[in-house]
Amino acid sequence: MQEIKKGDKISTLRIELIKGDITKVMADAIVNAANSTLLGGGGVDAAIHRAAGPKLLAECATLKGCATGSAKITKGYNLPAKFVIHTVGPVWSGGKHSEEKLLAGCYSNCLSLAREHSLESIAFPSISTGAYRFPIKPASRIALNTVKTCLEKDPGVLKKVIFVLFSDNDLAVYQENYRDLFPES
Ligand code: ADP
Repeated sequence: MQEIKKGDKISTLRIELIKGDITKVMADAIVNAANSTLLGGGGVDAAIHRAAGPKLLAECATLKGCATGSAKITKGYNLPAKFVIHTVGPVWSGGKHSEEKLLAGCYSNCLSLAREHSLESIAFPSISTGAYRFPIKPASRIALNTVKTCLEKDPGVLKKVIFVLFSDNDLAVYQENYRDLFPES
């Protein structure tokens, strides 16, 4: 594994975009786009709980919910991932209700938890762009920018951040923003 020193340009090695089902991803942690109760929802949340089994919901029930923009960690149970980091994205309501800041907080707080737990790899879905209707273009720009900035600030132990996109269109939008952020790639 290539050593990443403080001040190095963020190697594109560290951020990957794939199309797929996040419940199948082998990473130290996968991120759940949860709702504030942490007691289950639709979309990626339902898929993660289905794949992890009922012990995940039992642990989530002890956490007393999660504020929008924040994150909490649990074990991964039957998932290939060791941990699930649950974060609550903002519901899009026109863009004037701190949605961008809250979405950036989701990514940076998940990365802080990953660092606290010395995780080497983490996989994100496209937070807020499903039922919460955050437009995919600004959401993907915020996702990639926030992760890039966090990795630059803290080279740390985190070696890989994977964005797991669920449709060809979502993947294409993320790829376009990725090329803008990493023109040399
Ligand atoms: P939110 O409520 O934060 O919008 P959703 O679960 O509705 O969360 O959608 C977030 C994104 O996750 C959407 O792009 C959706 O297509 C995607 N998604 C749904 N299921 C999966 C899955 N199994 N793996 C990865 N992404 C998924």
